[in-house]
Amino acid sequence: MSIESIISEFAGIAASPAKQLANYKAEGKKVIGVLPYYAPEELVYAAGMVPFGMWGTNDKGISLSKEYCATFYCTIAQLDLEMLLDGTMDQLDGVITPTICDTLRPMSQNIRVAMAKLKKMPTIFLAHPQNRKPAYGLKFCVDQYTNVKKALEEISGAPITDDALKNAIKVYNASRVARRDFVKLANEHCDVVTPTKRSAVLKASWFMLKDAYTEKLVALNEELKKLPDCDWKGTKVITSGIICDNPALLKIFEDNNVAIAADDIAHESRAFRVDVPECDDPMMALAMQFANQDYDVLLYDEHSSENRRAEHIVDLVKENGAQGVIVFMQQFCDPEEMEYPYLKKALDAAQIPHIKLGIDQQMHDFGQAATAIQAFADVLSMQK
Ligand code: SF4
Repeated sequence: MSIESIISEFAGIAASPAKQLANYKAEGKKVIGVLPYYAPEELVYAAGMVPFGMWGTNDKGISLSKEYCATFYCTIAQLDLEMLLDGTMDQLDGVITPTICDTLRPMSQNIRVAMAKLKKMPTIFLAHPQNRKPAYGLKFCVDQYTNVKKALEEISGAPITDDALKNAIKVYNASRVARRDFVKLANEHCDVVTPTKRSAVLKASWFMLKDAYTEKLVALNEELKKLPDCDWKGTKVITSGIICDNPALLKIFEDNNVAIAADDIAHESRAFRVDVPECDDPMMALAMQFANQDYDVLLYDEHSSENRRAEHIVDLVKENGAQGVIVFMQQFCDPEEMEYPYLKKALDAAQIPHIKLGIDQQMHDFGQAATAIQAFADVLSMQK
């Protein structure tokens, strides 16, 4: 298959998750919704079910969820509840609600109450430990994952064996490797893998069984490797934030010859930068993977009084030939907003130019963002 046809398949799936959900149900599969962040999807896969990412949507207004949410919740959380209330996600067989931030904690209870009241689907509560590296943190994490495992076994009707979980870990690690390879190749061939295409390929992973996804992505990576070196005349940036999957916003990058060299986005690279150790105790291995997640403002950083995300982003700029950073600030996201001054300080100290764009999934007019990106692209190209 050609590069264009593989990317267009991924783009179709990224644009129509509801269709993808209906297809899995038509095949007789059980599907579990998975909210952000760091849910051990491997358990769902090992139970023979389909994990289905829920990161809000760019295509829906907020109406029914207002009955449950304060207006200052981010749109990711509000729209996830909206889709659970308005029937979009009625075909799910259950939903996992991690509780890493101060919005997701109450939202997990809103979802639990709403789903029970409407008799829609079981909800699976997941609390990760903040102290995730010490032995007691690992044990807490294993306990929590064991609760999730039991709830999934009830939904699937069969036990999750260690062998099935070890296999799921292998499948997911292979998928992470393929996505990391793709991100590198997308940088090397940024004339072909534009920001909208890059986003669509990575977004599709949330709605596909990982073995099928990886097979297609490896085929795409092989085709990309055959391309001649790209002589990119535009500029390159690192993107950072929670999510940036709006094609209209990413098209502005393309209109201004701005390529994405690498990212520190929760919906993208933060979700696949750490593999699960392949060892004899697969539940502990999942907990160890969570413990090994670093450089994320949502997670307590025991190595430093200031979160080391900035350190990571400065490295990404240097290692990937970028000239600047674009920070997507999700409206009403306290963790990202509170950490921004440290990030700004570190980028200024490293003399790396950046801009911050406030976004949410209800935005349809990107006029201000277009002006800011155009001006930033001009600044970066003068520095090249
Ligand atoms: S965008 Fe921010 S506030 Fe919303 S769920 Fe994510 S971390 Fe929490």
